[in-house]
Amino acid sequence: MTTPHRPADSANPFDSAHPFDSALAFLGDRLRVDEPLGALCTYRVGGAAARFVVVHDESELSRIAEALAQAGAFVGEAPQAELSVHVIGRGSNLLVADAGLPGLVLQLGDGFAGIEILDSQASESHESQPPKLGESDQQGSNILRAGAMASLPVVARKSVAAALTGFEWAVGVPGSIGGAVRMNAGGHGADMAASLTGVHVLDLETGENRWVTTAALELGYRHSSIRSTQLVLHAELHLASGDRALGEQRLAEIVSWRREHQPGGHNAGSVFRNPPGDSAGRLIEAANCRGLRVGSAEVSTKHSNFIQTDSDGSADDVLEVMAQVVAQVGKHSGVQLRAETVLLGFTDEQRSRLRWPNTTTPSLDDDSSEQAL
Ligand SMILES: Cc1cc2nc3c(=O)[nH]c(=O)nc-3n(C[C@H](O)[C@H](O)[C@H](O)COP(=O)(O)OP(=O)(O)OC[C@H]3O[C@@H](n4cnc5c(N)ncnc54)[C@H](O)[C@@H]3O)c2cc1C
Repeated sequence: MTTPHRPADSANPFDSAHPFDSALAFLGDRLRVDEPLGALCTYRVGGAAARFVVVHDESELSRIAEALAQAGAFVGEAPQAELSVHVIGRGSNLLVADAGLPGLVLQLGDGFAGIEILDSQASESHESQPPKLGESDQQGSNILRAGAMASLPVVARKSVAAALTGFEWAVGVPGSIGGAVRMNAGGHGADMAASLTGVHVLDLETGENRWVTTAALELGYRHSSIRSTQLVLHAELHLASGDRALGEQRLAEIVSWRREHQPGGHNAGSVFRNPPGDSAGRLIEAANCRGLRVGSAEVSTKHSNFIQTDSDGSADDVLEVMAQVVAQVGKHSGVQLRAETVLLGFTDEQRSRLRWPNTTTPSLDDDSSEQAL
């Protein structure tokens, strides 16, 4: 259970030095205090990170990992809340509690947003010299390497511009490559697993920086084996040769399908995972939850598995909408919905609101602690 983090301007000022302050002093004023996270998430709600840094490059990240280990961040199974460490990507699948996060939040910076498509020359040099971003056996002009913070729509468009096919589905998903690997994001009949050959991962806990093949990532439906202390740094995709004009047509079709079927505004895409053989949206609609509103958050009337937030909204309102949807769907159809959105900073008591009491579903805790529901 996390101790709610009190922002500095609350009634009880949180003015003691943070346990990470001395360990991360080398970052200077780039280590930010009480950094609001709402602006970094597509919901545009949520509290502040007690400490936050945008990481420039791999050597800085290795130094941060060493400092965190020295500060005791990874000692014991359940570290103190102030010693917790989280990574965020483009915040398009995240709900951060209004109480904020008491530990450290890392976000990879522009140095991790590169996209590289190997031409045949590069592929020849690949044989004599290992590639910079990984050690995959894949060769040839159909290899795309992208940094973890590369935006999925940009990667999709660049792949089509290079006459590659297989990644068009990602054009409407506003996340990063790193977040997409972690979630095994997908849509339109494809997912990351379909083209990913491997990823470069830094484990903050062990300091190990290594190439991990797709098989070892255990990618499943919105699932991977990547733990919260492991950072994807780069990924490599193997795509088929395609026709550029056909690819552009496919991109346009996907963008217009999304405009027609999904709401705009502040949201984080699908809130709940589809239960086997069914659709969360259908179940939510059948339970009469379309348009259900609590305070600043509402089930979309355009797509029932989306929740939209008002400007200056509240994460606790989103959680309450989720809880009411779970209860109504449970009562109506007997199905326990499970969140696809990653919940950060909520107490066990708050998270328990997402359990439908009469569920016969086995353990909900088969994923990482961040995604236990
Ligand atoms: C309008 C809209 C439409 C969407 N449509 C889809 C869709 O069709 N299909 C789909 O699958 N998703 C969809 N999403 C959800 C979301 O875009 C994806 O899950 C995306 O892959 C999340 O990436 P992110 O960078 O935003 O990750 P975040 O939301 O920032 O983080 C998500 C998780 O990934 C982890 N993470 C982030 N970066 C890294 C990293 N570098 N290394 C390790 N872990 C990391 C975080 O710790 C967190 O656990 C949609 C969202 C929106 C807002």
